[in-house]
Amino acid sequence: MPWHSHLTSGFVVGIIGGGQLGRMMVTAASRLGYHTVVLSPECDAPAAQFAHKHIHCDYSDLRGLEELADYADAVTYELEQLPLDSVQWISERAYLAPGIKALDVSQDRIREKRFLNSNDVPTTAWRECSSVSDVAAALASFGRDSILKVAFGGYDGKGQARVSADISDAELAKTWEGLSHGRDMVAVLEAMVDFDCELSVVVARDKDGRTTAYDVVRNYHENQILHTTVVPAGVSPDIALRAQEMAIRIAEALDYIGVMCLELFLTADGELLANEIAPRPHNSGHWTLDACYTDQFEQHIRAVCGLPLGSSRRFVDATMRNILGTELDKVSEHIPNPKARLHLYGKDEWRPGRKMGHVTILEGAANEPSQYSSMTE
Ligand code: ADP
Ligand code: MG
Repeated sequence: MPWHSHLTSGFVVGIIGGGQLGRMMVTAASRLGYHTVVLSPECDAPAAQFAHKHIHCDYSDLRGLEELADYADAVTYELEQLPLDSVQWISERAYLAPGIKALDVSQDRIREKRFLNSNDVPTTAWRECSSVSDVAAALASFGRDSILKVAFGGYDGKGQARVSADISDAELAKTWEGLSHGRDMVAVLEAMVDFDCELSVVVARDKDGRTTAYDVVRNYHENQILHTTVVPAGVSPDIALRAQEMAIRIAEALDYIGVMCLELFLTADGELLANEIAPRPHNSGHWTLDACYTDQFEQHIRAVCGLPLGSSRRFVDATMRNILGTELDKVSEHIPNPKARLHLYGKDEWRPGRKMGHVTILEGAANEPSQYSSMTE
């Protein structure tokens, strides 16, 4: 089917996962006239509030997966902590983008680091660990403070613990126990990066291999959770270009279709180290909703549905702040601000640390487009 007939044919986009990323995918798809179906285990999932249909079941429920494969013309996912065999099952029955490879690589920190390094993408020093003694040996070989992360299932700083270079055996055993809860665990020990700043870059790739990159952004984390994203990032054009090139190279190596984010550390001597890949639109790309010609969610839907990519050019400077947990006061404070664009995710329960929404403050006019943002124009 040619892509333009998708736009008027009742084409259905299926989304696995019901969080805010899914919600913003649903909004973008709906604006383009697509029907949407969300599969997720939560009753009142933020994404399901706007979708045409909610398949309310676990990610491994075969009946639900079958319904999704039957109903949707193209399926995507909005989180990486998914059972791989379920997504594989879907991919054998429906068109899936991004493909299974991107999920396989990005949902396991060890596979991800191996993949990055084997594609000449540098990371901090790391070691796979399946016991306390593995961690002790890795720590001794790094000789510096490190961070221990569960290989599978961590997000927003969950499933990780700092480990100082001179930690005692007893403390190390306690740290391991705190992450493993007495079960077998595979984890990765990473040498702490003494970074100048954290950056990220969102890129998109379509089914014909055409790519586009958004401007590189600077991220500030608090308690390992993204707090603020600033664009422009205030780094040299050379660093920005290298970051965009690195992300595009990764997308190509994954044969990626959709929007992908690369998180990076910039060291004092100008080295870029990859931290992690997100095979989906990313929190640090939310500013694109208000500051770019085509935002990251529409870009993702375009790629998944086989439409040509839009322009990722930015037309204004922006600062995005997450609204976390119980920061209810922040919500009303932004309403009278003409420069603020408030986005709430429709979550009724304000739990500490939970991502409830974000606000983007728009400032000034943007510079000329970078080489990559103008590629599809
Ligand atoms: P998550 O999946 O929770 O986002 P990350 O690996 O991105 O996990 O870690 C969250 C944050 O913790 C990072 O953005 C960074 O601020 C800090 N961090 C993680 N790993 C390192 C490291 N090796 N060196 C320094 N800081 C790190
Ligand atoms: Mg991260």
